[in-house]
Amino acid sequence: MIYLDYQATTPLAPEVARAMQPWIEERFANPHSPSRWGNEAEAAIEVARKQVERATGLKGGSVAFTGSATEAINWALKGSIEKAPKGRNRIVTVATEHAAVLDTCEWLAGQGIDLTVLPVQPDGRLDLDLLARELDERVALVAVMQVNNEIGVTQPISEIADMAHKAGALMLCDAVQAFGRVELCKGPDLVAVSAHKIHGPKGIGALWMRKGKEPASLLHGGGQEQGLRSGTQSPMLCVGFGAAAKLAEERCTRDYDHVQKLWTAAVEALGPRWVINGSTAHRYKGNLNIRREGLDGARLIADLRDIAFSLGSACASGSGRPSHVLRALGLDYRESRSSIRLGFGRYTTRDELGDACRRIAAHAVAQEKLDA
Ligand code: PLP
Repeated sequence: MIYLDYQATTPLAPEVARAMQPWIEERFANPHSPSRWGNEAEAAIEVARKQVERATGLKGGSVAFTGSATEAINWALKGSIEKAPKGRNRIVTVATEHAAVLDTCEWLAGQGIDLTVLPVQPDGRLDLDLLARELDERVALVAVMQVNNEIGVTQPISEIADMAHKAGALMLCDAVQAFGRVELCKGPDLVAVSAHKIHGPKGIGALWMRKGKEPASLLHGGGQEQGLRSGTQSPMLCVGFGAAAKLAEERCTRDYDHVQKLWTAAVEALGPRWVINGSTAHRYKGNLNIRREGLDGARLIADLRDIAFSLGSACASGSGRPSHVLRALGLDYRESRSSIRLGFGRYTTRDELGDACRRIAAHAVAQEKLDA
């Protein structure tokens, strides 16, 4: 199988698997127990925390482990609103955010929060003048992602954080698709990341929190994670996340050079008649979201079962709903259905990507002939 779905998840790095092994098989102690074994597990978690903190490149805050980035985002949004000063009951976000942000904001709107979801320009970028007009003394939090999971388009996070701060609001950045792949933008108060997008294990994420801006707890209980996020920590998952973060930090430039070469090879192998969805200038190049007039993307995926690629986000593909991100760019139903997403990275080879792209292009031509 040729795996081209790096935005949905990434293969576990062998170095990560090796680091996790002892914590899966032998070292089972509860990291919160006072025994020597417990202390060793706790120490391993603290090493992992430092590795993740270091890899973010962010200063003046700390990391709390969560069960996923979805949990980190829920926590950041709900917990910040709970602590927001009186009179600040507005959230401003963007139409192309991940469901973890949009659905949590919708839930909060159901609880009485005033929600503003800003549109994007046809290239997927947020218009900062529009944002400026929306920011007032009632805004508690601005939530914008750094790299979009469906189209790879990047947003100017540091400028947005500055604008939010000038209005007295907090800034949450969903950095799930950026972390470990590109440098994280400085400025946000809360940053959500996930291990399985950087060749780490599934089932663990983290929230980086600026000191003094920690949200109120979402999970109550034993008071783990500095009293902020209760629940017994998993040493094997934390160690795996730490190892993946360390590796990503060490390999960041090399991985991105590789990704840029893969992008060029993929565009070349696909040939003409494909349109790239979203900005090409402001983009993470490991995400190639493309469309071709008349193509049935779902049929293409069904026809090419030995190539793993997708229509958009894993969640959107499952639901059969047209992508809310592509709709936000102004694409109509037919254009969305004729779009596919190819995601590649560290372990993708140029040959397999070229081979996959040539077969995708050939099948698209065959579809066209059949439908003619
Ligand atoms: N945000 C973005 C941009 C994502 O791509 C994802 C995962 O698909 C998430 C949030 C949720 O991450 P997790 O799978 O850790 O809950």
